[in-house]
Amino acid sequence: MIVVMKAAATEDQINHVKELIREMGLTDHPIQGSELTVVAVIGDDRKKDSNVLENLPGVDRVVPILAPYKLSAVETKSERSVVRISDECVIGGEHVPVIAGPCSVESEEQILTSAKAVRAAGGHALRGGAFKPRTNPYSFQGYGVDGLKMLAAARDATGLAIVTEVLSVDDVDVVSEYADCLQIGTRNAANYKLLEAVGKQPKPVLLKRGMAMTIDELLQAAEYILSNGNPNVILCERGIRTFEDHTRNTLSLSAIPELHQRSHLPIVSDPSHGTGHARLVADMARASVAAGCDALAIEMHPDPEHAWTDGAQSITPQALNDLIKSCTRIAAAIDRSM
Ligand code: PEP
Ligand code: MN
Repeated sequence: MIVVMKAAATEDQINHVKELIREMGLTDHPIQGSELTVVAVIGDDRKKDSNVLENLPGVDRVVPILAPYKLSAVETKSERSVVRISDECVIGGEHVPVIAGPCSVESEEQILTSAKAVRAAGGHALRGGAFKPRTNPYSFQGYGVDGLKMLAAARDATGLAIVTEVLSVDDVDVVSEYADCLQIGTRNAANYKLLEAVGKQPKPVLLKRGMAMTIDELLQAAEYILSNGNPNVILCERGIRTFEDHTRNTLSLSAIPELHQRSHLPIVSDPSHGTGHARLVADMARASVAAGCDALAIEMHPDPEHAWTDGAQSITPQALNDLIKSCTRIAAAIDRSM
């Protein structure tokens, strides 16, 4: 960080700032300009509370230089991370896989029909919620472990890897036993104990952006998983809350290249939750591929009109087929495959 002193700061005030910096175990490097003095702080100040410096007499402001995240930063690892969920679903390379399936697992037949439709459309992994985070406590909460078993049966039948959400620390072990990739939903993106727990298990983690999270906060959430030993983190842009209400959320497309510039972690785009409307999903999927996303997460239901959850944003198997075909052409235009 850099401490910018006020033009009227006295020598004593500057010395006091330097003393405090040294007390923090850091090195001060004062630079005297024609109008004011700035004190550059040398060393990793991320573990220090720089706010105390802001209140010292003579200090104008404190400017952070280091990003608040480390393991996820491109400065720490220059080659891009590639996360392997299965042989056919490798995220972060030139291939852009599609993770598709219903919002919730509703029955053994529904998830099996969905998995076959994902396979037929050319998808690469099956999504489906067994543990559902619902805004209303009276809504369907998911089948839990029984839902995981239905997902596993669909994987056995189609060979598709499973991506499914884990809601609580208590369920991490059982979800990790069944799933090929654990999803952390938007509502849990700042549940630090859960992030630590998925950081300690071996399966890859799809970390969805909190609906009110900045990019910096998303990368700090990823840091919880990485710093607990799990390098296989996939970020997911799924839309954020804004004043706009024609869509359920606002899919922040610019977050995709911005995250790529700041982090080596791969990024999935979820245009289903990002728009909330089936009619908008294909356009935003194509736009996401053009913006450089490393995979797509798409809600598809064999019968969207009768879906138990998120039916309005779920596309049909035929629409998934068309979506993948058209996205493949967009991917080719930027030297990627699908
Ligand atoms: C989901 O993927 O079905 C889901 C609940 O997503 P989100 O956490 O992004 O709302
Ligand atoms: Mn959903």
